[in-house]
Amino acid sequence: MNIHEYQAKELLKSFQVKIQEGIVAENGDEAVAAAKKLNESTGTEWFVVKAQIHAGGRGKGKVQETGSNGVVLAKSLDEVKPKAEAILGGTLVTHQTGEEGKKVNKVLIAQDVYYPGASEPKEYYLSILLDRAKGCNVIMASTEGGMDIETVAEETPEKIIKEWIDPKVGLQGFQARKVAFKLGLEGTAFKEMVKFIFSLYKAYDQSDASQFEINPVLKTSDDQILAVDAKVNLDDNGLFRHPDLVELRDIEEEDPAEVEAGKHGLSYVKLDGNVGCMVNGAGLAMATMDIIKLSGGEPANFLDVGGSANAKTVEAGFRIILRDPNVKAILINIFGGIVRCDRVANGVVEAYKKIGNIDIPIIVRLQGTNAEEAAEIIKESGLDVQAAILLKDAADAVSKAMS
Ligand code: GDP
Ligand code: MN
Repeated sequence: MNIHEYQAKELLKSFQVKIQEGIVAENGDEAVAAAKKLNESTGTEWFVVKAQIHAGGRGKGKVQETGSNGVVLAKSLDEVKPKAEAILGGTLVTHQTGEEGKKVNKVLIAQDVYYPGASEPKEYYLSILLDRAKGCNVIMASTEGGMDIETVAEETPEKIIKEWIDPKVGLQGFQARKVAFKLGLEGTAFKEMVKFIFSLYKAYDQSDASQFEINPVLKTSDDQILAVDAKVNLDDNGLFRHPDLVELRDIEEEDPAEVEAGKHGLSYVKLDGNVGCMVNGAGLAMATMDIIKLSGGEPANFLDVGGSANAKTVEAGFRIILRDPNVKAILINIFGGIVRCDRVANGVVEAYKKIGNIDIPIIVRLQGTNAEEAAEIIKESGLDVQAAILLKDAADAVSKAMS
């Protein structure tokens, strides 16, 4: 589960991670009130207005309606309202949102932390994530903060520092010091960075997160270390232990079809192709998508209806797939192991009749227990549903139906 920057920063703060302070606002007046409050608590006279969406690249992104960037600086209290209003309610397009962009419902009014001082402010990159290959968490850091880290990884991989954490003993002092040292820090900034890394790791560990990305981490001109941005991804499987974090979910940021699928216990991921698929089992779903591609199609989605496909789940699956206007054919691929194929076939026929006027070809492939009976049921239903038993036959039927 993803959360917004303002929520992520609150989470970090509760673990004593130092952050760029801010207050969230939903309209121009709230933005001004937030700025006034920040001025009182931090003394800041400049403010950063930051669009709150579940996507990065906001600084360079553009609000379609007004041309404003998604992160802008207000150099006085008077600038806060117009700058917030140029973002709120607009559609922000960044390199991570796709062309359609994301609607902005909230802005974070933050203190300006790039103020001049004894030294230049400097941006760093810091992330913590699970290294699945090594089976442990890894801290990644770089002096190339503020930049797109994928570009750094590709062009100058030597500039990415990695420190793997042994799960048995946790983050060790020498490791945090090593990272701070490799980032070229010294004196107060070095000590502050070590503290920052420790608190951040604790927050990551105790919230059952799967990824923290702080880009940039800022060394201010007076040697404080602050999280200016925060992308936090929480592990869905750990959420049951964190009812307070579950509250942070913003359904408006999620794909409506995926939300609907979740309600029915289906795992659905929307893709860009035109062949809808309904499959039982994640492995078979992946294989089905491969087969669709091999036969020249493009899958429109990943949909795993789980081990106990019945008329109800099949119907929910149909409805979710049909929400996508790009879908030109549906391939149902069910392996009858625990569930019997004839039951699924009856379910498909029932759901098909119930939904009515489905005017695209549906190819059903049922293999396993009672597969022959199932093919018979589909054939005899009188519906415009094609039955295939072999996966290859099913894929061929799809490409034929599409051409
Ligand atoms: P992202 O573009 O979605 O990654 O959003 P960030 O939160 O990383 O902000 C984008 C950029 O805004 C940062 O890299 C900074 O250059 C700039 N920025 C953020 N906070 C401040 C600030 O307090 N003062 C100034 N002058 N710039 C800031
Ligand atoms: Mn950022």
